[in-house]
Amino acid sequence: MFFCLLCHGLTPPLQDLCHHCAQDMPWNQHCCERCAEPWPDPFEGLCQQCIQEEPHYDQCFAPFLYQFPIDQLILQGKGGKRAELLFSLGRLLAAQLQAQQVTRPDIIVPVPLHPNKQRERGFNQAGVIATLVGRKLGIPVSHNLIIKVREPKQQKSLSRSGRQHNMTRAFRIQRTVLQSLPYPVQHIALLDDVITTGSTLNQLAKQLRSSGVERVDGWALARAAKRNVAMPSSPI
Ligand SMILES: [Zn+2]
Ligand SMILES: [Zn+2]
Repeated sequence: MFFCLLCHGLTPPLQDLCHHCAQDMPWNQHCCERCAEPWPDPFEGLCQQCIQEEPHYDQCFAPFLYQFPIDQLILQGKGGKRAELLFSLGRLLAAQLQAQQVTRPDIIVPVPLHPNKQRERGFNQAGVIATLVGRKLGIPVSHNLIIKVREPKQQKSLSRSGRQHNMTRAFRIQRTVLQSLPYPVQHIALLDDVITTGSTLNQLAKQLRSSGVERVDGWALARAAKRNVAMPSSPI
């Protein structure tokens, strides 16, 4: 028996949402092809920001808007009150990656927390989701390829250039880990729970590329919108 995450009704086998709740989810249906920034209307191509300054990553995939109820599920999951929600969210993301036939990377790397934060929380939500997604899709996951060595200032109050500068030196790529993997890694998917401004992803993609990785994609459950985006109807 499988029960819906939201209404607790019965769902089809191996699914975490019933058909009605899946239809009501805030799907990130119209968005920039590069950074997944949501768009209110049907849209193809790149947003203004990606046209002005090409990101270091190749493509972002975030199936949901960071709105109700997905924002609440993520917050409850990472807050630890309902940590088991992270497993359901990982399955949801894996199902969408499969449904959209997203290009498979050689390896999935979760965006790390600072060790102090991880000790405090007891786990890294992106790491839990990445483990689930890797298992479902049969892709290896590395939890120690990137380490966070410095906690940057709150990003919200900073300008775009200030955010990029703030992120510099926050993360370190462990080249020895990259070199010790038993297979060549040319394509990495960085996984986070939410993409807010895209600055973290951009910085990590820049560092990974300078370590010799050819392609870096960003995978997340949800993408925050700069502007108000109306909830689109479901693609299912
Ligand atoms: Zn339901
Ligand atoms: Zn864009």
